[in-house]
Amino acid sequence: MTKYWQQAVRDLWGIDGRFRQLDGEYDLNFRIDSTHILKVMRDGCQTELVDLQCCALNHLRTFSLPLVVPSQKGRPFEICKDEKGCDRILWVLENLDGKTWAEFKPKTRNLILKLGETIGAMDNALTGFDHSGLYREFKWHLPSGDWIADNLGMIADATRHKVIQHILDDFAEIKADLNALPTQAIHNDINDYNILVTGSLHDSPAISGIIDLGDMCAAPVVCDLAIAAAYVVLDHPNPESALEDLVKGFHSVYPLSPKEIDMIWPLLRLRLAVSVVNSTMMAQEKPDDPYVLISQGPAWAFLESRKVNPDLIAARLRVACGLGVNDSAKSIMQWLDENCGCFAQVLCQPLDTLPRVSLSVAESTLPQNPFDLTPGEAATLGVETQGFHLGYYAEPRLIYTDKAFYKGPFKASNRRTVHIGVDIFAPAGTRVHAPLNATVEAVENRKDNLDYGGLVILRHETGKGAPFFTLYGHLNPESVGALIVGQFVEKGQVIAALGEQQHNGGWAPHLHFQTGLINIDPNWPGAVDPDELNFWSMLYPNPATILNLDGERLAYQPPSKVGVLAERKARFGQNLKLTYTDPVMFLRGWKTHLFDEWGRPFLDSYNNVPHVGHAHPRIQAVAADQLQRMNSNTRYLHPAQIAFAEKIASYLPEPLSVCFFVNSGSEANELSLRLARAQSGGKDMITPDHGYHGNTTGCIDISAYKFNAKGGVGPSKWVHLIEVADDYRGRFRRGEADIGQKYADLVDEALANISARDGKLAGFIAETFPSVGGQIIPPKGYLPAVYEKIRKAGGVCIADEVQTGLGRLGDYFFGFEQQGAVPDIVVLGKPIGNGHPLGVVVTTKQIADSFAKGPEFFSTFGGSTLSCRTGLEVLNIVEDEHLQKNAKQMGDKFLAGLHSLQEKYEIVGDVRGYGLFIGLDLVANLQTREPGTVLADYVKNRMREHRILMGSEGPYDNILKIRPPMTVENEDIDYILEVMDKVLDEAQSLMGL
Ligand code: PMP
Repeated sequence: MTKYWQQAVRDLWGIDGRFRQLDGEYDLNFRIDSTHILKVMRDGCQTELVDLQCCALNHLRTFSLPLVVPSQKGRPFEICKDEKGCDRILWVLENLDGKTWAEFKPKTRNLILKLGETIGAMDNALTGFDHSGLYREFKWHLPSGDWIADNLGMIADATRHKVIQHILDDFAEIKADLNALPTQAIHNDINDYNILVTGSLHDSPAISGIIDLGDMCAAPVVCDLAIAAAYVVLDHPNPESALEDLVKGFHSVYPLSPKEIDMIWPLLRLRLAVSVVNSTMMAQEKPDDPYVLISQGPAWAFLESRKVNPDLIAARLRVACGLGVNDSAKSIMQWLDENCGCFAQVLCQPLDTLPRVSLSVAESTLPQNPFDLTPGEAATLGVETQGFHLGYYAEPRLIYTDKAFYKGPFKASNRRTVHIGVDIFAPAGTRVHAPLNATVEAVENRKDNLDYGGLVILRHETGKGAPFFTLYGHLNPESVGALIVGQFVEKGQVIAALGEQQHNGGWAPHLHFQTGLINIDPNWPGAVDPDELNFWSMLYPNPATILNLDGERLAYQPPSKVGVLAERKARFGQNLKLTYTDPVMFLRGWKTHLFDEWGRPFLDSYNNVPHVGHAHPRIQAVAADQLQRMNSNTRYLHPAQIAFAEKIASYLPEPLSVCFFVNSGSEANELSLRLARAQSGGKDMITPDHGYHGNTTGCIDISAYKFNAKGGVGPSKWVHLIEVADDYRGRFRRGEADIGQKYADLVDEALANISARDGKLAGFIAETFPSVGGQIIPPKGYLPAVYEKIRKAGGVCIADEVQTGLGRLGDYFFGFEQQGAVPDIVVLGKPIGNGHPLGVVVTTKQIADSFAKGPEFFSTFGGSTLSCRTGLEVLNIVEDEHLQKNAKQMGDKFLAGLHSLQEKYEIVGDVRGYGLFIGLDLVANLQTREPGTVLADYVKNRMREHRILMGSEGPYDNILKIRPPMTVENEDIDYILEVMDKVLDEAQSLMGL
């Protein structure tokens, strides 16, 4: 058959090529090479319908729609006989680039917005198009979609039957308004196989085409949007936001009226209902084709789920289009403004002089654990200020820790943090008055811990009769017991009294006061997701005016990220780099998580400095305790110095026993160079390539990662680089015999170079497991062989354990243990102070004595009393909380998960690590091991969008660097692996693999 049509196209269009048949419900479609599409219409297809499409495509020729390729006779289509002798219409289109929407990932918010814009622009252009073929009655004409009512009997399942009936009822309510709208040509079938998308790792996804005008008809334009929306929301994890983005994009190009916006949701559902009823009918016609029913699955799943709150959706879409939540929103706000000052006082006294107390992420340190507000904290929150005082509106707080505030199962899942009412702190028993005439809308007693206790919602009206609502929470349930729903309440009338802690949900006595422009149900959220603040603040606006207060006084403003960024640019050097193009600002932390200024939680899988976790209470306590006493230096005696030194030495093998305390890893490495020189009498150092040891002049000289970087100072004569022992990318690879020895033998050449320049060896320094070099685990036997050569040549062996020390590796407390080597000098930094600036050098008595022959050694802050107590506490916590064991268990789980991902994705070249020191070598080509530099950048940034912090490293910047705090838990690893699976999947797909 294909050959037959190949010949026809050759004859009629002069086009030749490889034909591949595409899916199609009725017609035959072929792709010719990657340049053209041939459409062979079904037997009996009306010429008018093909003419309609050709004319429309011609009309839209400047848009990303396929162009019609005229035949050699200059005609848009030709009619010719098929093999059976029936007339068939043939036409040829140019092929467009891109994957279908169904196949393409990721469907970013911006892509959905662009889809909305594209549809809007196309529909705009179609306003000027007309054709007799548009005016047809058929099953996909959405305004006539209620034809399905006659076929409802086919839906045997009672629940499903009800769902469709409900959709039909909703449609009946809008039908008259829909029919009153003007009609125009619309595409009418923008489903996920008719949208084409292009994108790559570096080009953000873009709509490359809309295809298949076969269902075009005349209908109100909102139908086109609703149909596209039906497919966009189907499998989307967050259908509301997807719908908002689509509608926002459309509206920005093709403005919709509020009435049209309100129709989108019922029309979207009607389209899905038509689709499922239609396929149920088809299934009866083709009982042997299981695909017909399977394809209904996602539509049914969506229609039956309660993912989207239908009462809120119209309001959301209106706000997305820059309108108020309903028709009266604007006038209500205006009326409230005009009447500010005239409302009865909600409590017995004016509030305008009351102090304000912030519970914000920025201002408050409560709760101590942002994942678990304790009853004690709840009972005292906000009452540091005695007497009456006010809280802020739209303030992000970390106090909402119950699972109900989470939108997903993980600690880093989106969370409702922003308080969308105003708190007025006052003694229990304080009476609450209605600010204006009202009827009682709801009275409840919410008995759960940290809920509202007594709750009242009142309904009010503006002068012009527009309804709005006020909510009063944390009331004494007895005081509201007499209120009845529907009861009239006069302005100023007492409606309740503030509850005691034992019956107000467990909080310090206060009134939660909130205004709503719509009363969805009594479950008004009191706190909302910061990413949806724009919408919720339109629905629950600042209630200050009803309290006779200036709104600005109550509106919370978090520290401005933009402002801090601008100031930073002005105040700091430009080579002080920020992570991420859109940087993050963190104000709080707890264990393995950090919180930004809006209280958004991030899972920290990158920072190894907070070794025992962010904001550890024992570190807080020990530091505060010491600062209350005194903080001085090592010129004076203090037991803490000895305790800390003894503790460190207890982890180290003999003869490593003498400690020097400094302020940083850099200072420690700098000192280690001096020690090596004092001991050896030499200056020259041998070190692996791509290493990093610190930011001081001496450290930069031995850090190829810096001196060889763009703009770096270049190599010094006394520094001799050897190839890093990377058994994945280096010259000797995993699986070969004796590679540890082979890499160690590279030292010989360096020693020869030293002799050749008449230099003298001071020593060898290496990060035990090279970190910035790409999270490399050297082959076993490497370090002992190197150390042997160095010592033979009179040099000192320095192990930089800044990254690898203190149990991170799980199986080992230090990296050199894995190698079975004992260094002469060990350098510790970063994690040893858990964020407090602290570095330690430990060496042998012999080396320390050689150094002591020189001038006095003193570091003002090194080994301060505060530092010693902090460092000791870190080590004690590692032991008390069994963090090395945790590193082992979590690391094993993590690595096993990553190995599974490696099997699944060919872009994962190598997975390596010990415990919580992990690297993922990402590749653009698995065979050639071509480094995936852009890929790693993509993955790192996408992980961040899912609120997981991760880094990239290595000479090609293609290694994902993973080193979470040692407190990381099972569920954190589950979350990282889940997200990584998704991100690797989309990255691989974007690479066309
Ligand atoms: N050594 C290694 C292995 C490091 O990773 C670092 C810091 N990244 C340093 C030394 C320097 O430590 P600091 O920044 O505390 O001076």
